[in-house]
Amino acid sequence: MSRDALVFYSPVDDARAWRAALEAELPDLDFRVDPDIGDAAEIRYALAWLPPKGFFARFPHLQLVTNLGAGVDALVRRDDLVPVKFSRLSDPGMVAMMTSYVVFAVTRYARDIPVFERAKRRGEWEYVHPRALSEIRVAVLGLGELGGPAARMLASMGFTVSGWSRGPKDIPGVASHTGRDGLERVLAENEIIVSLLPLTPDSRGLLGAAEFALMPKGAKFINASRGAVVDEAALIAALRSGQVGEATLDVFETEPLPQGHPFWSLDNVLITPHLASITVPKLAARDVAESIRRVRRGLPPLHEVDPGRGY
Ligand code: NDP
Repeated sequence: MSRDALVFYSPVDDARAWRAALEAELPDLDFRVDPDIGDAAEIRYALAWLPPKGFFARFPHLQLVTNLGAGVDALVRRDDLVPVKFSRLSDPGMVAMMTSYVVFAVTRYARDIPVFERAKRRGEWEYVHPRALSEIRVAVLGLGELGGPAARMLASMGFTVSGWSRGPKDIPGVASHTGRDGLERVLAENEIIVSLLPLTPDSRGLLGAAEFALMPKGAKFINASRGAVVDEAALIAALRSGQVGEATLDVFETEPLPQGHPFWSLDNVLITPHLASITVPKLAARDVAESIRRVRRGLPPLHEVDPGRGY
């Protein structure tokens, strides 16, 4: 009988940590790290991040590809995918970490912290009277595995929260909007806008000059999803004119953000180096293992990705 093996490929992730975490969940799984894969015909599962072209076709009995990350834009746009099930990582640790980033970035604006950061640099005591959180309107674009819990948390903190997604959502305290008219309304009615949209053909460059112009003057923008959801040149222009008052950016079209990029010199931009949320193998392995168990039983994996839809 052929063995049930998984191939691991990642230039960045810790194979040893993943092996230990997955073996604790699935002791019968044969965990192999590329290029030391033995008989390719025994590989049924791949746990991979940015594998080389032609990687998947090497395994004739592959059934499931799990993307070693939540964002699948680099995976689904490949032209060498094979007809198997696809899933992505998601785990409570990743969700909590993203929620903490969003809460930090939104609260920093809600409590006028950038004003005090600048005042401190000038050595000045500048008082801005705080506003009730309920007066502060926040929109979360993308209400999926990460955006949904972040929006819910903001609402539970007392912010007035709207959300935008492809289909309608029922999240306590979060007004649900869909469609182009929903997007325009959400942009026009909220002073803090958070993007947690996946990068897909529909969302690429979605937030450009027209969309920034819809926002209330001085709006705050937070992007923790993918840089290319935004037209960066339009965002820079909006930040220079003050149409967008402040931005917190964790993701960029080119990463690392090149030296000399205009974002570096804008005083109203906070830059973090793509770490709003990360995966801890020990926490994520539970769902990866459960997906394998489900595929063994002929069921769809957890956190299934639809390559046609792009997320
Ligand atoms: P999901 O796939 O779970 O959710 C995506 C959400 O976006 C869904 O609510 C979906 O709507 C909505 N959406 C997708 N396309 C459209 C569209 N065309 N119009 C309106 N709404 C749309 O993604 P996650 O929440 O898990 O993650 C979001 C992104 O965050 C990832 O794709 C990744 O790029 C990024 N990320 C960034 C990290 C970082 O450290 N900065 C870490 C992890 C992820 P519906 O629910 O109706 O389908």
